[in-house]
Amino acid sequence: MPLCRLIYASRSNDILRNDEIDAILAVSRTNNARVGVTGALMYGSREFLQCLEGAREAINSTYNRIVKDPRHSELTILDFVEIDRRWFAGWGMHHVPPLWSSRQMLLRYGERETFNPLKMSAASARALLGDLAVDLAPPRDDEPRVPTKPMRA
Ligand code: FAD
Repeated sequence: MPLCRLIYASRSNDILRNDEIDAILAVSRTNNARVGVTGALMYGSREFLQCLEGAREAINSTYNRIVKDPRHSELTILDFVEIDRRWFAGWGMHHVPPLWSSRQMLLRYGERETFNPLKMSAASARALLGDLAVDLAPPRDDEPRVPTKPMRA
């Protein structure tokens, strides 16, 4: 089964509180660890940018569940490609804190200094997430580990 990466953007139907984001992350980490899915989730200005990596079947079934979630809408697939390595190996779902999205950082990947993943190109979304993965610290001990092959150098 080929390894794939799916990147999509969406808009939350309400402004979500931190505890509501934490609840999404918690269920994601548990479910994703079970099927070998890893990734990252960013949330800011009511918009989500999420990266899912894993076996194609696992990515499809996870995305098909996410797409039905009434907490968000306007789901837009930015990129869905086969890959030879993961960016977020070991992360059931890495939470990218809003602080990471500094205005200067956002301008690097978008037209404006605002987080607007629904308008992002596939190339910019890939660049943003790929750069983020390079600087990533190892997962915390309280996050479920996903058994994955180590990333190649
Ligand atoms: P159940 O828990 O049985 O819930 C049934 C329905 O209610 C589902 O449609 C569910 O989406 C919805 N629901 C659940 N909780 C709430 C709530 N608090 N408020 C409103 N509706 C609710 N899941 C993953 O497994 N992996 C991921 O990577 C992942 N990423 C997500 C990213 C985003 C931006 C969002 C919004 C959700 C994400 N989820 C993820 C959660 C996913 O959408 C499902 O809620 C979860 O997988 C449980 O699915 P279920 O069918 O077992 O739902």
